[in-house]
Amino acid sequence: MLFYLHIILTFISLIANLILSTVILSVDSRNRLNRLYSVFTLAVAYWSIFKILQITADSAESAGLFYKISSLGWTILPSVYFIFVIEFTKAQNRILRQVISPLLFLAGILFAFLTIGTDLMLAGMVPEKWGYSHIPGRIYKAGFTPYFIISFVWGLILLFMYGRKNLSRLERIKTYYLLIGVSVPLLGGVITNMIMPALGIHVFELALTLTSVNVVIIGYAMYKYRLMNITFEYAASTIINTMGDVLIVLDRELRINLVNPAAMHLFGYSIQDLVKKDIRSFLLKDYFSEGLIGSLEKEDFVKLEMEFLDKNRNAIVTDTSISTLKDESGETVGYVLVSKDIRERKRLISEIEQAKKELEELAVTDPLTGLYNRRFLMFRLKEEFLRSTRYNKPFSVIILDLDKFKEINDTFGHEEGDELLRFISNKLKSAVRATDVVARFGGDEFVILLPESNKTESVALADRIRSSSFKDNLPYKYRIVSGSFGVSTFRPDKPLSSEIDLLKLADSALYRSKRLGRDKVSHSDEVGEE
Ligand code: GH3
Ligand code: MG
Repeated sequence: MLFYLHIILTFISLIANLILSTVILSVDSRNRLNRLYSVFTLAVAYWSIFKILQITADSAESAGLFYKISSLGWTILPSVYFIFVIEFTKAQNRILRQVISPLLFLAGILFAFLTIGTDLMLAGMVPEKWGYSHIPGRIYKAGFTPYFIISFVWGLILLFMYGRKNLSRLERIKTYYLLIGVSVPLLGGVITNMIMPALGIHVFELALTLTSVNVVIIGYAMYKYRLMNITFEYAASTIINTMGDVLIVLDRELRINLVNPAAMHLFGYSIQDLVKKDIRSFLLKDYFSEGLIGSLEKEDFVKLEMEFLDKNRNAIVTDTSISTLKDESGETVGYVLVSKDIRERKRLISEIEQAKKELEELAVTDPLTGLYNRRFLMFRLKEEFLRSTRYNKPFSVIILDLDKFKEINDTFGHEEGDELLRFISNKLKSAVRATDVVARFGGDEFVILLPESNKTESVALADRIRSSSFKDNLPYKYRIVSGSFGVSTFRPDKPLSSEIDLLKLADSALYRSKRLGRDKVSHSDEVGEE
């Protein structure tokens, strides 16, 4: 009866482990974790096959032979599980990864060879009611048993410690399923396959049989919690590690819990410099005011411009989104920051604005003198005309044409002529108020627009310029040059149809000055008087 039960249970574990390994590989065979776990289940399946042959053997010799062949399966189990745990818990310890894991694996292989090639692992086989049982040899008791227990228990301790970390609920559940799944056959195996046979007590061996329980537990966790299906987690971690934006996870006390490579690259800090530190020591200002925390509680999301300080204490302007991290009960457990470096964007915007300003200036400036150009003068004149008409206020324009300017060009050359134009332009600019507009109208002609100026004021200004900016007030070689002025005034009681008319009036006054012998100021009211 026990004999058949033993065969059936072992057969079940064979089928169960085969199914589990197939399912795990079909879920995601490219994942290293899945491949490791299926090696584990396949090793159990391999063991099951020879275990059945061992149970049903017709002699102690052939049972021993099958036992020896089966050792290649069970000796490597602890090391494969250990390597799986290292991978699952993402343990970074290099000694664990590069020394202990391979050593455990090699030890497993060595025990298999010792089993096959010597009598140190197997002292003999005894027929029992449930088939042949092994009598452990010296190395089995003194070497393999401690190796087996230490590797498995160590792996379980690593899993347990990982489960106590600040994990997501889902990750914690998966961890405990892995832990409990293996603990059941391990406990049964250590007691019934190792300790009791070592004491000379032969019982029904449970290690292999109980792996079916592991299969059920792992299968349930795969179905319910997507254990072994970490495509999503892989995708998430790949995104976090390769994204160009900075990602920082904070706990409730604003200590940094996690940073991505982009953050370390941008700030020039190593992971140790950042983790567990208060985020505020890396910020230009205390952005995490009560107000911000309050809006995060309410809205779960805030977007703001945040300046970080890099390792050299340079400010890095970022567009930062902060989201609240909540647990299942809705309690805030931390914050996630995603920041985009916008220094380049800011620099570009200010460069574009500067260029725009320069272009706008260019569009209204006379390139030779730096005064306003004719286009701007016409625009301002129209504006002033409309405003003065509306508010019943006077304003005036002065047209100035240099006398004998051609002679300067002819005598000293065009360059000298330009120099004189610039010289007089500066004089004009300093002679007027800030609200007045001085423009080069063309050639040696200038126009001054005088808002809110009446006839007396504007004629006085023109005359002041005439007497203080020409002839003897010019550099010696330009002294033959004087200025002729024409002034006109807009008066609300004498409406005009447009600003062009006012300019024409000033022009006629200028001709009057020229006609009367130059170096004169005339107002349009005087035109036709002589
Ligand atoms: P008038 O007393 O009749 O005004 O005589 P004028 O010698 O000043 O001659 P007019 O105003 O008729 O001619 C202006 C001269 O200014 C003609 C042109 O060669 C010269 N001119 C025009 N634009 C420029 C310029 O940008 N630079 C220089 N150097 N000369 C210019
Ligand atoms: Mg002239």
